[in-house]
Amino acid sequence: MAYVQCEQCKAHYFEPYDRIGPHRCPPLFVVWDPENGDERDGRRVYASDYQSAAEKWADLADSEGEYGMWDGNEVDVLVRGANDLSGEAQAFVVSGQMHPTYSATPKRVTSP
Ligand SMILES: [Zn+2]
Repeated sequence: MAYVQCEQCKAHYFEPYDRIGPHRCPPLFVVWDPENGDERDGRRVYASDYQSAAEKWADLADSEGEYGMWDGNEVDVLVRGANDLSGEAQAFVVSGQMHPTYSATPKRVTSP
């Protein structure tokens, strides 16, 4: 058994079995910001559902410094199943937040 990454969807799993059986990639979605282009400019992301696809889009877009959602900016996006071009696009407002990071270092004790 080996811990591997799927080349297609980038998910990590134990080979040869995913949790529920042989690995199958989650559905592919197209996510785009309608104020910055149309569906053809969208990102293709693998996700379990529409909402997760919007959240993955936010993570990728913010990691490239495009929107500053981590700083409270809200962005409207549209999500459509990549293999369901006749389906209705779903709208989401995505935003993010910074998580605080804590650290501890040993305190030097000075004897009197
Ligand atoms: Zn996969």
